[in-house]
Amino acid sequence: MSDQSKRTVVITGGSRGLGRAVCLSFAGPDTHIFFNYASSSKSADETQRLITEAGGSATGLQVNVASEKEVSDFFKKILEETGRIDVLVNNAGITRDGLLVRMKEKDWDDVLDINLKGAFNCTKIAAKSMMKQRFGRIINITSIVGVTGNIGQVNYVASKAGLIGLTKAAAKELASRNITVNAVAPGFIKTDMTASISEKVKDLMMKHVPLGRPGEPEDVAGVVAFLASESAAYITGQVIHVSGGMYI
Ligand code: NAP
Repeated sequence: MSDQSKRTVVITGGSRGLGRAVCLSFAGPDTHIFFNYASSSKSADETQRLITEAGGSATGLQVNVASEKEVSDFFKKILEETGRIDVLVNNAGITRDGLLVRMKEKDWDDVLDINLKGAFNCTKIAAKSMMKQRFGRIINITSIVGVTGNIGQVNYVASKAGLIGLTKAAAKELASRNITVNAVAPGFIKTDMTASISEKVKDLMMKHVPLGRPGEPEDVAGVVAFLASESAAYITGQVIHVSGGMYI
């Protein structure tokens, strides 16, 4: 159960990887975290345990961000409990890679529905609450490939480029209400999403990373926490690359 005096932070896809690290970057006595996940309830329990261990509190719920109804019920619960949303991090995402000419319609739809429409579903509801409060921070996790393109990922790249567009348009629309909207574009970060990439391909990628190492989820989480902080009050509509210099 949350406490109305606390800051409310909402993170999508918080059960694993970047989302879990982002949850932990907000964990503390003054913040209640609501996070969601698709199906990994054991991983979600572990995120919840780690947040509590770090002195914070959290509610983790199974919610498909692609479903307007499930997202609406999720935010209804949050607003009933807390009455406000201070920070939204749209992090949930999937890949369904394949070459353009062989890509199945379902793989296109699933990726766009979760990565882009999911962020739209959550942002739309959170923004209404933030507008009333005249305060809010929205951070969208895009990807470096949303800027550069990538072979075998037309669906994923389109979703992440779309998320950059959503970020810029929403930043303009919401700025007058003291709501900032920014995107973070990670490069190659060590999570389950990148675990199946072969060592050969990883070595090739590292040749393009001047800092010479893959990123850790905490490298991304620190930037998200900064964008949610008072120090970032005058930053909006930006795409911050966290990629070890992969694309300079
Ligand atoms: P990950 O380890 O695969 O975790 C994905 C998270 O999203 C999980 O919590 C998953 O829940 C959740 N999720 C998936 N589908 C969902 C849905 N329909 N509704 C709600 N939650 C859903 O991925 P990651 O590497 O941490 O990636 C996080 C974000 O960073 C993604 O948007 C990804 O595109 C972006 N990104 C990652 C990298 C990288 O190198 N890893 C680089 C650039 C951008 P379950 O645990 O229940 O499946």
